[in-house]
Amino acid sequence: TDINNAGPRQTAASSELFRRACEITPGGVNSPVRAFRGVGGEPFFVSRAQGSRLWDADGNEYIDYVLSWGPMILGHAHPAVVQAVTDAAQRGTSYGAPTESEVQLAELVRDFVPSMQRVRFVNSGTEATMSAVRLARGFTGRDMILKFEGNYHGHGDSFLVKAGSGVATLGLPNSPGVPAELSKLTLTAPYNDLEAVEEIFRAHAGKIACVILEPVVGNAGFLPPDDGFLHGLRRITEADGSLLIFDEVMTGFRVAPGGAQERFGIVPDLTTLGKVIGGGLPVGAYGGRADIMDHIAPVGPVYQAGTLSGNPLAMAAGLAQLRILRDENPYPELERRTRRLVAGLLANGAELGVPMSGGSYGSMWGVFLAAGPVRTFADASGSDVAMFRRFFHGALQRGVFFAPSAFEAGFLSTAHTDQDIDETISRARDALRDAL
Ligand code: PLP
Repeated sequence: TDINNAGPRQTAASSELFRRACEITPGGVNSPVRAFRGVGGEPFFVSRAQGSRLWDADGNEYIDYVLSWGPMILGHAHPAVVQAVTDAAQRGTSYGAPTESEVQLAELVRDFVPSMQRVRFVNSGTEATMSAVRLARGFTGRDMILKFEGNYHGHGDSFLVKAGSGVATLGLPNSPGVPAELSKLTLTAPYNDLEAVEEIFRAHAGKIACVILEPVVGNAGFLPPDDGFLHGLRRITEADGSLLIFDEVMTGFRVAPGGAQERFGIVPDLTTLGKVIGGGLPVGAYGGRADIMDHIAPVGPVYQAGTLSGNPLAMAAGLAQLRILRDENPYPELERRTRRLVAGLLANGAELGVPMSGGSYGSMWGVFLAAGPVRTFADASGSDVAMFRRFFHGALQRGVFFAPSAFEAGFLSTAHTDQDIDETISRARDALRDAL
């Protein structure tokens, strides 16, 4: 391949930028996981990206499996997405009045995810989940919600209870600043534990507005749902009159064209989306049953709004990306390549005698340095985080950027070739050997 990292990796330019950043921004970053606290060392600063590759301020090149934490399913700077954004910018960057592109993207989202009979655009996954939960509370007249340990739904107050992702990476149980009175309304259960859910519903019958979950977890590392878990949640919520919210911010357009709900054949009441839907620009969406969504203002009394919601650049990027996904259907090929990558990484472990487990759905994947099966956040926490740190840095030195935390999923894009994957597996083997 055309990797150009000759000799040891240079870091002077990134280091200097990090020093300046730390003086002006907490931790030098605008989102905690970027600071590499989960793996130690300093982050690199990106100067550009193309296809499957990133380049940093020192000119080092990386095969990228973070992909902006999920959005870049067509790889970086896809020509059609860049063109669409450029064209849209020529027509103005924001109006505060509706546009055709919002209607087009909403219709396209509904084509992919038919349970989203109504769609409302927001600017991030966090806004989508916060709004969906407010709606669930407003619709049911109930205050409690149920979430799962190690599931991350953005940084809304109600969700910062046993949250995964960056919160787990930093080892924070809950966040100061969230009133205890509010946290009390967030019940938690271990992921994949249907009995715990049943018990909670027995104890709080008729009081839980919704169950929200990552139908395939990415924010505790990659945790697939056990057989029957999702169907069980659908049955329990329906029986109680509680709403089922699939947070498909990560799984949407990833584990199948129509997300986890298509893959596992479940119809949730509400769905939240982000990441892929915006082609790398800030977009989130929530939607679902028309009778529920019609409780949102201006039709109904549940308030939610946004100056930049449905932003024309973001809509253009999302439309360009989703149209390619619809017209070219890269899903079988993405799934095949992702499986090859995971199989190769696990084979490295087998060859070197390192206990590893992992899996993938579509182009969302993960491996743990643990014998497995890894079914819960507690299992994930039992993986070898110290070895992961050494492995991560060994891979980085060799021009492979895996997520800088043992508690994050990986992604693949249509720009990742079989050659990229072979190269990655080979470098990962060397990195793993050095990590022993
Ligand atoms: N929900 C899930 C499942 C996520 O993975 C994320 C972000 O990683 C969010 C919600 C929050 O999205 P955002 O970071 O766009 O606010």
